[in-house]
Amino acid sequence: MSNAAEPQTSTTTTAADTRITRAGSQPSVVAPAEYFTGRVRIDPVWPANGDINASGGMVTFEPGARSAWHTHPKGQYLMVVSGVGLYQEWGKPIRKIYPGDVVWCPPGVKHWHGAAPATAMTHLAITGTVDGKNVEWMEKVTDEQYNGR
Ligand code: MN
Repeated sequence: MSNAAEPQTSTTTTAADTRITRAGSQPSVVAPAEYFTGRVRIDPVWPANGDINASGGMVTFEPGARSAWHTHPKGQYLMVVSGVGLYQEWGKPIRKIYPGDVVWCPPGVKHWHGAAPATAMTHLAITGTVDGKNVEWMEKVTDEQYNGR
């Protein structure tokens, strides 16, 4: 058993140091109106960097809010954390997504995601990056598209 009173012996470290990013150290960001409809907040979790080539972000959509149509060059995982969400790929029906559901958006597939009309939704988005880019934005989702008409 280790004894806390023993002096530390020097060790050779071959791996990078552990890093803890503290809660509250990364300010919330209002999602840009250019690419989102309604009120959307992004809470950064981790950036894409030399550690791993995918960013993590917690995204909260108020009722009726959604992203514009877009694609991801390396794909994206979404895990619903709370509320009720909607996810749609171009040419396919809108699908409801619930807390605990994990959606894989394949690279290059045009899609959008957002909250249900009367219920907010928060998801964790893990988005792959290639050459510093992780999304290609397209046109906004119209009310007719959002309402499935
Ligand atoms: Mn996406």
